[in-house]
Amino acid sequence: TPLFPMPADLEQPELNSNAETVLVKRYLRKDEEGLAKETPTELFWRVASSIAAEEAKYEKSPWKPEDLARTFYDMMINGLFLPNSPTLMNAGTPLGQLAACFVLPVPDSIEGIFDSLKHAALIHKSGGGTGFSFSRLRPAGARVGTTGGIASGPLSFMRIFNTATEQIKQGGVRRGANMGILRVDHPDIIEFITAKECEGEFNNFNLSVALTQEFMEQVEAGESYELYDPRDGRVRGRLEAAQVFDMLVQKAWASGDPGIIFLDRINRDNPTPAQGEIEATNPCGEQPLLPYEACNLGSVNLASFVTEDEKGVQTLNTEHLAEVVHLAVRFLDDVIDASIYPLDDIAEMVHKNRKIGLGVMGWADCLYALGIPYDSEEALELGEEIMDLVQRESRIASRLLAEERGAFPTYEESVYKKRGEGPYRNATTTTIAPTGTLSILAGCSSGIEPCFALSFTRNVLDGEKLVEVNPVFARFVERTVSDPAQQQAILDHVRRTGRLKDCPDAPEDLERVFRTAMDVSPWSHLAMQAAFQRFTDNAVSKTVNLPNEATEDDIREIYLEAYRQGVKGVTVYRDGSKTGQVLCTGEGA
Ligand code: ADP
Repeated sequence: TPLFPMPADLEQPELNSNAETVLVKRYLRKDEEGLAKETPTELFWRVASSIAAEEAKYEKSPWKPEDLARTFYDMMINGLFLPNSPTLMNAGTPLGQLAACFVLPVPDSIEGIFDSLKHAALIHKSGGGTGFSFSRLRPAGARVGTTGGIASGPLSFMRIFNTATEQIKQGGVRRGANMGILRVDHPDIIEFITAKECEGEFNNFNLSVALTQEFMEQVEAGESYELYDPRDGRVRGRLEAAQVFDMLVQKAWASGDPGIIFLDRINRDNPTPAQGEIEATNPCGEQPLLPYEACNLGSVNLASFVTEDEKGVQTLNTEHLAEVVHLAVRFLDDVIDASIYPLDDIAEMVHKNRKIGLGVMGWADCLYALGIPYDSEEALELGEEIMDLVQRESRIASRLLAEERGAFPTYEESVYKKRGEGPYRNATTTTIAPTGTLSILAGCSSGIEPCFALSFTRNVLDGEKLVEVNPVFARFVERTVSDPAQQQAILDHVRRTGRLKDCPDAPEDLERVFRTAMDVSPWSHLAMQAAFQRFTDNAVSKTVNLPNEATEDDIREIYLEAYRQGVKGVTVYRDGSKTGQVLCTGEGA
């Protein structure tokens, strides 16, 4: 039963059929027979009311919880803002675990490793994703003190985490996701880089190599570098930096794995260095966290802030956006209090730093509606402007919350205090998540990615396939192309190929605006990531798409440029490369 009775006059959510399917399959609460025991309206009310109920304990809150619940509800069903999946699934339920992102430490002991494994299982069960740094584990071949035996190294333990995830996902709400990180100066780095060579190996892991500024300088200078035993810092080997870098490039070319993260950059932006060093991120890379820290995310849908005036001119309503950002920060801060964490250590860390990650989705749709090409200066400038606004307003909101409820407890030791900023309620406020499922629920393009295609095929119930055209595009064609035959030809081409490329009937400016991921150059992908990163506390989830014919040199250039542009990590994907993986069987595969 919801915390506040559901008002009779609530507006019903309007969901497209994909959103409806996802909601029914994955989000609505089920009874023992697996039948839905709530409606979409009840789901959003459950979430809105249980989060708003947290306001009651803050005397200075300007909100009556019932009124705030209604405001939160409207914000979600109108597709303006959605919290991350675990909040939608678990708010107001006995499980009550609401955060998507966790980082767990993996200490160099059997006890420590298996504790971490158990904690990961509990987190996966609740729909959260886990990131780990395996850099503390002694290398393969090192002596084990207590038995005199030989250690098997990080890779062998990672395999156990992968298998455990596989088992948990059978019964869980989502298939578990992990990030595995190893420092580039760990003696087992080569095994790590080649770990996913065989199809299916580490299938429940994203892998990233943690690079340091020193390493990048050694690559550029053509120098070798030392590998260290993490236990005592003793030198265990030496590798040519450029060769290791080439190998990373080659692997990224062949399969997209592993990715890279720039660890110094991440720690340069660590708001609470007194609480420790950041070693890892969550599974998709957008949320660097301290060991035992968790973070809940939420996203505003930029497309839903585009309004049309009487003359049909589209503009972005920034005042409305700012207003929603303030509400979203309040929402996410309340989520911290409402969430039940699977471990006391995690609850303690979360309550100390109170990190939240507000981001954006629907960016490509927003650009479509405004008629601005994704790969243009104008798009980069607008992106910066919007994210600057989100960042600024979220900080203001967090400062106002601090006045109301107190600063995050480690504020006094934080970088903000040193800079004379704040006090804030939250150590970070912004993160750009992939919004894989949220964007389906909101019916918009995901995160800051360009649209993958202008049309997509949907399987309807009786096995029939239905091709749907992006609605913003369809409307734009109707509005701007006056000849119905030409309209038809353009839509047919898009239905067939998913893009406007080589469409003889499309006016040039139409093709220029309605770009898809594959029409946009890798440089434009990267530039967009960098533009949003400049105004984001945490990191930005973004894939740099490359055409199939891209070379290793192209990827090398992207990596070097990414480093120069100051992003915190890069994920590249060369079209069709995953299928090129070899099939391995037997030992160690
Ligand atoms: P959503 O749209 O479902 O809220 P995102 O695609 O934005 O989720 O991913 C955000 C974060 O949620 C990821 O980086 C990861 O930490 C976590 N996450 C995503 N998918 C899964 C999954 N299948 N299992 C566990 N955690 C996940």
